[in-house]
Amino acid sequence: MDIYLDANATTPVLPQARAAAIAAMSDDFGNPSSVHGTGLKARALMDAVRARAHRVLGVTHGQLLFLSGATEGIQTAVLSALTALRSRREGGEALPGLLLYGATEHKAVPEALRHWNTLLGLHLDVLAVPVDGSGRHDLAWLRERAGNAGLVCTMAANNETGVISDLDGIQDALSDSPALWLVDGVQALGKLPLRLNERRIDYAPFSGHKLYAPKGIGLLYVRDGAPITPLLAGGGQEGALRSGTENMPGIAALGAVLEQLEEGGTFKTSATLEAYRERLTEALTEAFPGIVFNAEPAMTLPTTLNFSVPGVPSSVLLDLFDAASIRVSGGSACGASKARPSDVLVAMGLAPWRSASAVRLSFGPATDMALIAAACERIRACGASLRDSCMTPDMQQHALPVDRITRYVVDGAVCYLVADPVSRRCVIIDPLPELTQPLTQWIRCRSHTLAAVLDTHGHGDHSSSAAALRSEVPEAFADGGDTDPLGWPLGLDDIRLGALRLTRLAIPGHTADSTAYVLDDGEGPQAVFVGDTVMPGALGRSDFPISAPLQFAPSLNALDRAVGRDTLLLPGHDYDSRYACTLNTEIPRQPLLAAALDGSMDALEFARAKAALERDLAPTEFQTMACGARVDRGGELAAVALTPGELDRRLEAGCAVVLVDVREPYEHRLGSPPALDRVARREAVALSALVNTIPQWLALGDDVELVFFCRSGNRSAQAARALRRLGLKRAWSLAGGVALWPARSDEQSPAAA
Ligand code: PLP
Repeated sequence: MDIYLDANATTPVLPQARAAAIAAMSDDFGNPSSVHGTGLKARALMDAVRARAHRVLGVTHGQLLFLSGATEGIQTAVLSALTALRSRREGGEALPGLLLYGATEHKAVPEALRHWNTLLGLHLDVLAVPVDGSGRHDLAWLRERAGNAGLVCTMAANNETGVISDLDGIQDALSDSPALWLVDGVQALGKLPLRLNERRIDYAPFSGHKLYAPKGIGLLYVRDGAPITPLLAGGGQEGALRSGTENMPGIAALGAVLEQLEEGGTFKTSATLEAYRERLTEALTEAFPGIVFNAEPAMTLPTTLNFSVPGVPSSVLLDLFDAASIRVSGGSACGASKARPSDVLVAMGLAPWRSASAVRLSFGPATDMALIAAACERIRACGASLRDSCMTPDMQQHALPVDRITRYVVDGAVCYLVADPVSRRCVIIDPLPELTQPLTQWIRCRSHTLAAVLDTHGHGDHSSSAAALRSEVPEAFADGGDTDPLGWPLGLDDIRLGALRLTRLAIPGHTADSTAYVLDDGEGPQAVFVGDTVMPGALGRSDFPISAPLQFAPSLNALDRAVGRDTLLLPGHDYDSRYACTLNTEIPRQPLLAAALDGSMDALEFARAKAALERDLAPTEFQTMACGARVDRGGELAAVALTPGELDRRLEAGCAVVLVDVREPYEHRLGSPPALDRVARREAVALSALVNTIPQWLALGDDVELVFFCRSGNRSAQAARALRRLGLKRAWSLAGGVALWPARSDEQSPAAA
């Protein structure tokens, strides 16, 4: 069962609202503008809902317009206010110079301000009212500028943090201001009285779907006397203020929700909701020791919690919660490699790690205790899973199995951890400063000895964090002996990790000190950590003062002689998520490499051609220095998506299918998708450990379909593309991920239930 805790994004539709909407589509389907009986019934319904809305919102001196939602309400209010300002300017009046909005406002507000300000040719200054660390507006700042403001927009409660604005304080700050005042009431509806009658609020938009009505219906409050300009002109509905035939199913559904608000029974009291939040807070604190809450409970809606867990990015927490079927959302939009910090938390001045790792958990006021109790139980399971994966700072005895090679990526730069679970020895290759904390945690939690921290070369785009790591975990070092500048222990020919052996090979070129580390498990080289010398689609640039361009081609030949053309090469940078390459995958794609290896270019010609390629290299998409000229940018990205239906057809046809769950171990632990109707072999190989299994997959017969899946289809698409590039033609990604997992034929669909 899904536990939906993302009510600030949207809510399910209340059964009474659903029934009312269906009735308005089947029996009472009339157009309220029609003058016959069917139309009159619809109008009566609409009038009754509007009257109820007036009562529930306490509005006697103003109008309530039905429209599509808050975004439209915001547009209408902003257009109205700005059109009035423009008329005043046209009448020769001097206008105030500012349009103000709270720094934590929903994007719809500042975007609407900028849009209409430009479109109407006003060109006033659009400024954000700063908020303090608790998320409340800086009233002194506002008071100082209020006299010169034409419109001020402040939300009643914030959608990310639940922080409730001090509307009386804002009103006071605006006391001598000519400004119109818009209060975004979206998150307040049903949770917080706005006292629209008593306050001088001019506009207040609301969205039905944030309170158990369907999407597509909303309300806009307009104070008597506040200017109003229609956004939509046409048939003259809503007193010609919002044309277009009314959304009667939406209005009927909203009416049913308002009825529950008015009559009581369905929605819990603030005290009950606070008690629910307290239960969730306790469960979260137990599950994630060290958790910090990003807003004061006393100042927030009782239905919203926003928190961060030190050392755990929000993308990890979201994957974790989703694996446990708890639907929450990030305080931020998550990019592929780095979470984009939440603008709201940044505006509050919270430490960057807090805004980058924030998670929002929100429930609606119709929630019951059973759901909260089930959520608490699953939250505790999420905490246990994270601890067992050594992802939180508190130690854990029952850590999950250790992979031989674990890969970490930060903005395209790759770091590897090579470990042997039997001898409990490990080596870190190309450590990155951002990883000192998780790597330290990994080593301590799994009680491993650190045999070495190696760099493949002196890096140009980032500093090695080897020294920081050594000083973080001094107790983990095998011996305190001296090392060369790249971290290799002096006097050793090889580094042993149980049965694994690491040797080094000098490959000067990218830099004069470039070194490859060859991993041998007793049956020959398994993988080579080649740094930036050979990357998927590029050779490392050799135009640095510390480069050795004339030695580049001889180094490529040395690599070829030492490990051959099919050994996996693991790069120091992987901008396009290709994971690994071999000389054989690169020769057809990289003409310079081919020329160096077939001898058609000597070292000097090679160096010259390479220099020409590297002239004026642009920075990467991560705004870091490019480590090589990419000649294969993956323009021909393979179409790897397989729909659940296509998977089913392959299984039905009797194809040999291997299904690989590439989610991380902390997600696997929380449950796998259910069995399918037809048999398929299943494996679980996290994306971070993918390189370990690549050789086995490449050895699969041509008749085997390798289908990767993950939470949403993004990670599995990476895995499938990487395998395709390495030569496996039948690598696929299950489109839509676990969310669209093919239903078993004996499972009833919700529609049929
Ligand atoms: N304002 C706030 C505070 C919101 O939370 C939202 C939706 O997330 C909106 C405005 C926009 O609402 P809608 O997308 O329903 O138009």
